[in-house]
Amino acid sequence: MTRVAIIGAGPSCMAQLRAFQSAQSKGIDIPELVCFEKQSDWGGQWNYTWHTGTDEHGEPVHSSMYRYLWSNGPKECLEFADYTFDEHFGRPIGSYPPRAVLWDYIKGRVEKADVRRYVRFNTAVRNVQFDHQSKQFSVTVHDHVADEVYSEVFDYVVVASGHFSTPKIPEYAGFEHFGGRILHAHDFRDALEFKDKNILLVGSSYSAEDIGSQCYKYGAKQIISCYRSAPMGYHWPENWSERPQLLRVDQSHAYFADGSSAPIDAIILCTGYLHSFPFMQEDLRLKTNNILYPQHLYQGVVWETNPQLFYLGMQDQWYSFNMFDAQAWYARDVMLKTIQLPDLAEMQADTQTWHEEEKTLEDAAAMFKFQGDYIMRLIDQTDYPSFDIEAVRLTFLEWKKHKKENIMAFRDQTYRSLMTGTMAAPHHTPWIDALDDSLEAYLQTDEECLRQKAG
Ligand SMILES: Cc1cc2nc3c(=O)[nH]c(=O)nc-3n(C[C@H](O)[C@H](O)[C@H](O)COP(=O)(O)OP(=O)(O)OC[C@H]3O[C@@H](n4cnc5c(N)ncnc54)[C@H](O)[C@@H]3O)c2cc1C
Repeated sequence: MTRVAIIGAGPSCMAQLRAFQSAQSKGIDIPELVCFEKQSDWGGQWNYTWHTGTDEHGEPVHSSMYRYLWSNGPKECLEFADYTFDEHFGRPIGSYPPRAVLWDYIKGRVEKADVRRYVRFNTAVRNVQFDHQSKQFSVTVHDHVADEVYSEVFDYVVVASGHFSTPKIPEYAGFEHFGGRILHAHDFRDALEFKDKNILLVGSSYSAEDIGSQCYKYGAKQIISCYRSAPMGYHWPENWSERPQLLRVDQSHAYFADGSSAPIDAIILCTGYLHSFPFMQEDLRLKTNNILYPQHLYQGVVWETNPQLFYLGMQDQWYSFNMFDAQAWYARDVMLKTIQLPDLAEMQADTQTWHEEEKTLEDAAAMFKFQGDYIMRLIDQTDYPSFDIEAVRLTFLEWKKHKKENIMAFRDQTYRSLMTGTMAAPHHTPWIDALDDSLEAYLQTDEECLRQKAG
């Protein structure tokens, strides 16, 4: 029987498992599936851990998510086309749910599909080698429960191990003498640690924007974020300023390219992540920056020089869950041989065209369109339910506008589901006042909330 190994059990893998189960439910024979997940539960980034550094098995901690994290984009833009929020929650909810709520949603679909049995938890992939004679992969893993290292042979490998876990760490003069804490965003867990503190955020992308907002919400005294090329440019609260490039620090102060300096208690490096696949044989290892159309992946998914290998979710992500679905359905159909691939030269030329096209994109609006069109090209080749990607793009544009209007209140906005047409319900508490991010608190009805407030 054909065997498929999937590395990691985050949302991309869960999409792959669901794609195969969907085919099976239509009477199609599917291969034997084995997913190796180094953590004890599924959900990838969404499976929160308090650990930093190494986990209970000595593995590098995977998740970079932190307490009080809420979706940073409208849930309507990531909704599964085959499992809607309405189906999962049974009623409309807000547009920017906290982590635990989205984790519940992702799990709901695959629990319904009954695919957890394919996952071997607490099992880290150590090595993937391809044998050109047998045309099979040997996958070596470490089962941490049995403390056993073993290898198995597979016909296909799907790498779904994510790319927001290995920190990119810059060095600045004086770091070794700084008197406070220096951490990467990957190790940020609880904004309350920085209550009443002066914090410096190095970076001007999503991590800086969101970690700074968390720290503001939970009582940081002063926030400075600094940029290399351009400021984020939102209307920040009074105690948040943006400064140009950090030049150096001393024991207690940071010094910037505009000649200014400021007292600092902690430095958070919001400087991004590396695509890291140390377990892959050299000629199978994806090396790319965080971009929309990486090279060497036909249709963003198939390893061109060995089409028995797939990478899911390796793009920069404006779209997330429904993009992983589009990719997983496509990879499935290549493995089931209902999609025939062109020859190597044609695949490479196609990828190169899109890779070059990405370089011409000038703003976020163009990027939404580029990635949306990519998703539709994939969906058109499979039986994944089609949806109105143009409407998703318009929702993204609304989201951008709402952020510009009020960066501390954009999460109070609501949008219409593009799958069901249902309008999201305004959340019972404005984001800035909602300090409890638990599933239970979020799903309280307005009446329950009022009763609780009345004591
Ligand atoms: C701080 C932060 C906030 C984010 N916020 C949002 C958001 O609001 N909305 C959104 O849509 N997206 C968000 N994302 C993007 C997020 O990456 C995706 O939503 C999604 O989790 C990607 O899924 P994935 O399965 O590709 O990878 P991951 O979620 O990273 O899952 C990969 C899995 O692979 C496992 N793994 C890794 N290496 C090995 C190995 N060697 N052996 C075995 N298992 C392994 C990991 O343990 C993990 O379970 C955020 C990401 C971060 C870091």
